[in-house]
Amino acid sequence: MRNVLVTGGAGYIGSHACKVLKSAGYNPVTFDNFITGWRDAVKFGPLAEGDLLDRDSIKSAFDTYQPVGVMHFAALSQVGESMQQPEKYWLNNVMGSLNLIAVAAEAGCKNFVFSSTCATYGEQDNVVLNEDCAQYPINAYGASKRAIEDILENFGQSHGMNSVIFRYFNVAGADPEGEVGEFHQPETHLVPLMLDAISGKRDALTVFGTDYDTPDGTCIRDYVHVMDLVEAHVLGLKWLEDGKGGRAFNLGTGTGYSVREVIDQSQAVTNKPVPHTEGERRPGDCTKLVSGSQRAMDELGWTPDRSNLQEMIRDAWRWHQNGHYNR
Ligand code: UDP
Repeated sequence: MRNVLVTGGAGYIGSHACKVLKSAGYNPVTFDNFITGWRDAVKFGPLAEGDLLDRDSIKSAFDTYQPVGVMHFAALSQVGESMQQPEKYWLNNVMGSLNLIAVAAEAGCKNFVFSSTCATYGEQDNVVLNEDCAQYPINAYGASKRAIEDILENFGQSHGMNSVIFRYFNVAGADPEGEVGEFHQPETHLVPLMLDAISGKRDALTVFGTDYDTPDGTCIRDYVHVMDLVEAHVLGLKWLEDGKGGRAFNLGTGTGYSVREVIDQSQAVTNKPVPHTEGERRPGDCTKLVSGSQRAMDELGWTPDRSNLQEMIRDAWRWHQNGHYNR
């Protein structure tokens, strides 16, 4: 059995990764502490319940499952919260990852796929961000992810840790078969909040800032379908198993949409109005984050063919209407 340890396997992206890992012939072992993850989302392989701040629980998962690789998704990921409580982000994300990387190195597990973020780039004048752009994060979330990238680089030099770093742009959508989907509590992400506003599950959406230097004044983001994103992770793992590594890849499509455009597309897909109001800027938000993803396409053979906004919103909407989890 080719076990892969999937930290955060009970979360949004991790659970989709488990699904595609299973289809690709691996046995995904979910490692999760269920602080933000959902037991109902663990559907595709065994569960190793544990906490990245508890090294013994990590060691025990490695002893039991002897994984051929790690996919590390577990993290706190709210930009706004990271600005108010940076300590929480440095402790959970950086210390937790350091524990995981150290235990993996000790166990001789050298194939490490890491979930990083375009927030590591920060505000830049470049129209499209590619992997060689300097990284100047402007929020504690991005800073914590960048620090983990540095740890992986050092462990590559000292322990031969072989890593693939994926810098995600904005992930949206859901498994089209409806087995797993996006469900956060609290929810802070644009697409699910908007669907909640459409269905009346919560009040109107607040548009965070309408005075940005963009054509319609709202922030621009590059949205990638969660299924495309996790397919890239399987390609990354295979790449590592072929002996390659030490590489960062952006995962996005190169097309940016403003918050207003996302609202318009959602109205078109659901055929319902999006109740929304205009509010202040959210601290830590960059004006525009758009990916140059040619590297992942050229070197990994990645094809983000589900990542058009309408398809992402349609899949998210289907899940929104039928799916939910209990912890
Ligand atoms: N956004 C918004 N209202 C919300 C949530 C998000 O206007 O209630 C905006 C946010 O300012 C950003 C974009 O939507 O420009 C995407 O935000 P999200 O939190 O989904 O992802 P992030 O880009 O922070 O990773």
